[in-house]
Amino acid sequence: MNTQAYPDLDLLVASHGHLCPGLAMGYRAARYALKMVDRGPGLVVYSGSGGCPLHAIEMLTGCSRDSGTVITADGEGWAFYDSQSDEGLRITLKKELAGHIAGDRDRNTKLLLTLPDNALFDLEAFSPPGSGDGGGV
Ligand SMILES: [Zn+2]
Repeated sequence: MNTQAYPDLDLLVASHGHLCPGLAMGYRAARYALKMVDRGPGLVVYSGSGGCPLHAIEMLTGCSRDSGTVITADGEGWAFYDSQSDEGLRITLKKELAGHIAGDRDRNTKLLLTLPDNALFDLEAFSPPGSGDGGGV
């Protein structure tokens, strides 16, 4: 498929080995997050799951499990937290789209790459667990 609209996606696909709905999802989530959160040394990603989406997120954010900047956490989607500015957000795939991830792989990948950010994802504020300012109960 034509990925020219996303030049950095080609690098990602080369590293990942294939283009799949999960990779497309992680790619879009990371790009969306980085419009709002700095890709700096303070950035930490909280993820409840790994796999293809997280691979894309690690590549785009520069965060990794090895460096301790990807933290396994409960919750849906992915949370991006900049500890330097104390700003964070959680991005989750819209519920009505969740059923579209299984099924026709090429069609779903295309959908995930072409829908606008706000049609793909829900956003909410995020504070890391234990920060004491509203992140917990
Ligand atoms: Zn994949």
